[in-house]
Amino acid sequence: MTTLREVVAYEEELLAGSAPLRRVHAEAVARGRAGVRALHEADGVADPQLESRLERLYAEVLDDYAAGAAGLLSSEDTDRWRAFVERLPANGPMTLLREHGVPGAARLFDSMDLAREGPESKGGLDTALSAAAKRCVCGYATTRVVPRQLCNACARAVGAAWVAEERSLLQRAPGLGAEVSEVLDEVTSDLAAARSKGTDDSFSTEEAALFRARRALARAHRRHRKDSSILDLTRWEELAALARRASLPAMRAEARRGRRRLGTAQLAQLALYGNRDVDARRTR
Ligand SMILES: [Zn+2]
Repeated sequence: MTTLREVVAYEEELLAGSAPLRRVHAEAVARGRAGVRALHEADGVADPQLESRLERLYAEVLDDYAAGAAGLLSSEDTDRWRAFVERLPANGPMTLLREHGVPGAARLFDSMDLAREGPESKGGLDTALSAAAKRCVCGYATTRVVPRQLCNACARAVGAAWVAEERSLLQRAPGLGAEVSEVLDEVTSDLAAARSKGTDDSFSTEEAALFRARRALARAHRRHRKDSSILDLTRWEELAALARRASLPAMRAEARRGRRRLGTAQLAQLALYGNRDVDARRTR
């Protein structure tokens, strides 16, 4: 028996060795995650058809990825990967991967599946703040008077709305969006590895990972200046300004460093200890 995590670890080694494969993979991740979020927004989590719609989407994205990756994989690697997948537990994504997968598919599945549990911010900041009102100790959730520092409940509501705004902007700039997804995907794994170690220096390892991600986001924005110049960042900036007042130091720090740089809102979430996406990739 093997675990999905072990298959993903094997795939990460393969991906690390091939830049063209990484590119095809990152594009598939971006498309898959956007597809999952679009389904959630269109039909809502309560839709009884959601599961089967998601399954169809996963299969489609995996097929597309397999077609794009076909010339980039050796038959040895593919055979070894198949043997791995056969040993996965039958109640998981094993059938999906066996029928639609090639090396990289387990990680792609994992990334899409994580997108299912995005921040619950569909109604925007007002809805998130109303939900936070009972736990608010700074007054902002009820009065909307901006305090010097936003309490944890309000900061989390702001963070979720900021991420939602950022994602919808990035959907309008696909080139930048794909590259930002790639950066975030990588930093998620790096943070998970650092937090799994739990040693004294894991904090500095995390800092280094966040630093690299900020630089990579800056580079992505330079490369896609045309893309980002057509976007209206007004709302994103307003939410970033609020996030700079967060009582959560990690969120505040990212908000202060990532001025006008899309990806920062999501990076600020990943930087928070206990982030779900990061924890899902931790090895213990
Ligand atoms: Zn508050």
